[in-house]
Amino acid sequence: MTAWSNWSGSVKARPAELARPTDEAALQALVRRADKVRVVGAGHSFMPLCATEGLLVSLADLEGALEVAADRKTVTAPAGWSLKRLTDALWREGLSLPNQGDVDPQALAGALATGTHGTGRDLGSLSTIARAFRLVLADGSVVTCSRAERPELFEAQRLSLGLFGVATRIVIEVLPAYRLEERIERRKLAWVLENFADVAASHRHAEFFVFPYADDVILKTLHPTDEPDSAPKPGVNEDAVFRFCCDLGRAAPVLIGPLQRFMMRGSGASRRAGPAHSIFPSERNVRFEEMEYELPRAAGLPALQEAIAWIRKGRLPVAFPFEFRWAAADDIWISPFNKGPGASISMHQYAPMAWQQLFAEGERIFRAAGGRPHWAKRHTLARTDVDALYPLAERFRAVRRDVDPAGKFLNPHLADLFS
Ligand SMILES: Cc1cc2nc3c(=O)[nH]c(=O)nc-3n(C[C@H](O)[C@H](O)[C@H](O)COP(=O)(O)OP(=O)(O)OC[C@H]3O[C@@H](n4cnc5c(N)ncnc54)[C@H](O)[C@@H]3O)c2cc1C
Repeated sequence: MTAWSNWSGSVKARPAELARPTDEAALQALVRRADKVRVVGAGHSFMPLCATEGLLVSLADLEGALEVAADRKTVTAPAGWSLKRLTDALWREGLSLPNQGDVDPQALAGALATGTHGTGRDLGSLSTIARAFRLVLADGSVVTCSRAERPELFEAQRLSLGLFGVATRIVIEVLPAYRLEERIERRKLAWVLENFADVAASHRHAEFFVFPYADDVILKTLHPTDEPDSAPKPGVNEDAVFRFCCDLGRAAPVLIGPLQRFMMRGSGASRRAGPAHSIFPSERNVRFEEMEYELPRAAGLPALQEAIAWIRKGRLPVAFPFEFRWAAADDIWISPFNKGPGASISMHQYAPMAWQQLFAEGERIFRAAGGRPHWAKRHTLARTDVDALYPLAERFRAVRRDVDPAGKFLNPHLADLFS
């Protein structure tokens, strides 16, 4: 048995075996002989998606190369590559991903399996760029699925939570390489609430971070540019300052409000430019726990205001900021964006501090506003909630029963929702 834990440290497991196959035949043999299997990418999910007492497989060492289609509109990529490795390789080919989230250590398959997204008024989650999958099924056989071949399996696999098989190669849509300019500025919360729609309409990507006890927010926009690369920013170690403030707030929660206002006073404006894949990701070195809800777009800002008011009223100890983003609608069976354009609210807490009760109360606000959770982030949905929120959940389960009748890829969390 090997000890395993996720990025935030909140999910711990003792898999009977942790395997890193180097070729597909070895992977097939591992899956065929195991009773229970989960695949792990970078372990960045906050929910126990990868937890297992059986076989935990990582594809980090699986052989494979990037293949660019003749029309350069799609590529076939190794599913276990990190987004960092993938986007570096794409850039060398003169290509970029249409959008990315906050960080890039996630495996391509891990990001797609949970509907990982960035921000952009008209840009969907990473799951929307999948065109085909090569999968090792529970019986060890290898299949491919796309809109033309095994279409039911493909539709379910687009946002799969790793329930149908082990993805080894994925065909994804790509764009000609592009460069971005990032602008970060401090703005009044009231100004952002009033103007976010205009900012989001005039930039390819717009989002903001707001501490619950501060009246200023950090507004971040990204927009295509031809400007040359910026030199790396010298200066203070922002992570060290932030971690120090979190530790202080943890020891003396009464200081959290003043510390957040102090940190915001110190946050200035900045600009930088570079290849899209080097501008999208940020460093996230101070560990946190996270819940995220995707709401109908018009409900987003009012729900955020309600959440901030609830925290202030109860003087609740929330050390991290909210993150507010937009994502486009999609048509994926269990995607939280499949009802229309979405607003995304992430609620974070410093990892060493208590989050369960706070998230449970915050979740009530976001559920009441029509929200559905990010599958990889903390939520308390039960099977009945899944059925109420997702009319196609039973079709998703039917595909699972068809390709994995013995439930090899289920763990207790996923069995509760999808067995
Ligand atoms: C610091 C940080 C920043 C984040 N930023 C964002 C963000 O900006 N936007 C956002 O939407 N989310 C974000 N997330 C959430 C993150 O993108 C998701 O949790 C994502 O699933 C993590 O990818 P992973 O490779 O770590 O997957 P894991 O957590 O390892 O696995 C996720 C799921 O994918 C399945 N899986 C992995 N590989 C395979 C495979 N080869 N075949 C089949 N199934 C597979 C697993 O079984 C599991 O069900 C962030 C998380 C962290 C910790």
